[in-house]
Amino acid sequence: MIQNAKIHFNELGTPVADAFDDVYFSNDDGLKESHYVFFIQNRIDERLQNHDREHFVIAETGFGTGLNFLNAWQQFDALRDTRKVKRLHFVSFEKFPINQADLEKALSAWPTVAHYAKQLCSQYPMALKGCHRLVFDNGNVVLDLWFGDVQESLPQMSYSDRGIVDAWFLDGFAPSKNPEMWQQSLFDEMANISRKGATVATFTAAGFVRRGLIDAGFNMVKSKGYGRKREMLTGELNNVTDAKHEKVYFTHAPRTLDRVAIIGGGIASASLSFALAKRGRSVSVFCADNEFAMGASHNRQGAVYPHLQADFTVQSEMYAHSFLYAKRLYQQLLNEGFDYAHQWCGVLIQAISQTVAERQTNIMDKATWPDALLRKLDEQEADQIAGLPTGHSGLFIEQAGWVSPPELTQAVSAKAASLKSMDTHFNCKILNIEPTDSGWLLHTGSEIFGPFSDVFVSAGEHSDGFTQTSALPLHGVRGQVSHIQASNNSMKLNTVLCHKGYFTPAHQGEHCMGATFDKNTKSRAVTNEDNQINQAQLARFYGDQPWYQTLGEITGAKSAVRCCFSDHLPMLGEVIDESRYDHAFGNLRKGKHYDFAQLERPHEGLHVFTGFGARGLCSAPLLAEHYVSCLLDEPRPLSERLNEGLHPARFVIRGLLRKER
Ligand code: FAD
Ligand code: SAM
Repeated sequence: MIQNAKIHFNELGTPVADAFDDVYFSNDDGLKESHYVFFIQNRIDERLQNHDREHFVIAETGFGTGLNFLNAWQQFDALRDTRKVKRLHFVSFEKFPINQADLEKALSAWPTVAHYAKQLCSQYPMALKGCHRLVFDNGNVVLDLWFGDVQESLPQMSYSDRGIVDAWFLDGFAPSKNPEMWQQSLFDEMANISRKGATVATFTAAGFVRRGLIDAGFNMVKSKGYGRKREMLTGELNNVTDAKHEKVYFTHAPRTLDRVAIIGGGIASASLSFALAKRGRSVSVFCADNEFAMGASHNRQGAVYPHLQADFTVQSEMYAHSFLYAKRLYQQLLNEGFDYAHQWCGVLIQAISQTVAERQTNIMDKATWPDALLRKLDEQEADQIAGLPTGHSGLFIEQAGWVSPPELTQAVSAKAASLKSMDTHFNCKILNIEPTDSGWLLHTGSEIFGPFSDVFVSAGEHSDGFTQTSALPLHGVRGQVSHIQASNNSMKLNTVLCHKGYFTPAHQGEHCMGATFDKNTKSRAVTNEDNQINQAQLARFYGDQPWYQTLGEITGAKSAVRCCFSDHLPMLGEVIDESRYDHAFGNLRKGKHYDFAQLERPHEGLHVFTGFGARGLCSAPLLAEHYVSCLLDEPRPLSERLNEGLHPARFVIRGLLRKER
């Protein structure tokens, strides 16, 4: 687990890290020093004006109080009228994040960046390892905060072989006080992830740092240090390194995303529209239904919470970070006046059996998750939080809650449309996707739309309904949620209860209870039988409680189909042609990871973004952000193992490696 930094403030009010006995920034005007050493010496102001891309990427070792980030953001804003660059990406690594209270105190010393500091503090994440993506100013400024040792985080980063970083702020406590960080392996990784021409600046002039950076491929020179400091180092990378990072079979080829269509009108489509709109891409949305969110995203109340296992598995990492990202986004929408029914009332996962209780004990023993994310409650505490007796202990996810999925989907879409024009076509079922020399055409039978440079298929369980996608190994799992009349007694429920299914606090006089899981049908018909199953399940765990006895009639239900893959992970990437993968990467069968044939890509620009199973409200926003980042060759918020785990080629590659194909 990540440990927060222990700090104190010295007599000048400068924060000092106890473990390193070093200051976070200089005692004499740290902000000016930050500006001089990192911003000026990397020549960022001039480079923002003639950069070759829409976005500029700064990476930093040691986020500390975020002062360097805030200065860069302020400067970026100040150059608004002259710069060519549209978006600033700041990637920072931090082994010992300072806690929220210390952050606020440390930053209160800088009134000139108070406007930015306030926004940072409002999104500053909990001490969970991995990448936290914070989005400011409608995506014009993006901060990726990687919590963990920079030496461990850098290899986790997923990036293309062309490199992504334009400028390095090589910070960190003095090399003499923090020798573990200032290693050749760090300098080499910095070079690997850098673009040609990337610059580096650091406050230290230590000879071994200079030599190490030169060995890694940077041309280094000594420059005048800040204030009374004699020297510092600056440098530039003249060539990209040979180190290959991405596996060739799990790449995402960059796209310009000029004319984009999305097939689908659920939370996946809305999340994609938003990720694209933030980057100035307008989209055309095609939805078979007469409005947004009439498919799986159609429930009255859906729980937003992560699925956490005892270890930091691929699934847990994806859900934990997706959840924190989704929560920030959903809260931001509310702050901006986009409304949807919701309650951030927490989700209580109840220990409904001995097996579940043991699993929960194991989760807590492993201590993978910070208390701020997940904590254990005994039965009494659980009842207190629930607001009524439940009879079970449990794990509590305090930041979680429920939302109205259709209203949320509409809010996310409305937000996207507020940033960039969006062209929506309802009652528009796409039957065929036709490739042409000028792009993809979408056919409804009576109309043809396009051509589009890129088409994203986010059609839930119907995503395999096109010739090009018919081999997608997805399956549908039908589910029904029943609505039951609340009583005065049951209305006291203050949190979402998760047992085998879930039971929500009352909304408009009714609770949602569910849901059923049925792999054998894609029918959306509501059945009485499923209502009985939902009620029997609730009775099984809460039947003895007085409030249960007071519940009224079942008044209605909703049924839909979850789109799932066998490994319980969603899928994002270009639609693949399996036989061409078999041909190109056939050597994997022989255990060879080289000598691959050229991969032909017949479906260039046709993407799949689906498979959100039972948790799309939690995972769709971050995954959309990740995939669009991949396509535009930006820093990516998901780690390499997640990127691979979500790639459409994963099943084929696993099959080849196991010699099953
Ligand atoms: P959908 O919302 O199904 O959207 C698919 C869209 O594609 C629809 O708009 C449809 O009209 C459109 N479409 C399909 N074919 C075509 C075509 N040919 N042309 C044009 N448009 C087309 N998740 C949670 O996070 N929390 C929960 O508590 C929760 N509870 C659930 C309970 C049940 C009973 C069910 C079924 C799901 C639940 N989920 C929950 C899962 C969640 O609802 C899904 O993961 C999510 O809605 C998937 O969103 P989507 O956009 O991928 O698909
Ligand atoms: N850039 C910071 C700012 O603007 O406030 C100040 C950075 S402070 C001098 C150095 C930071 O590096 C500390 O927050 C420390 O915890 C972090 N750090 C030290 N070793 C690290 C490592 N191995 N990996 C990641 N961060 C590290």
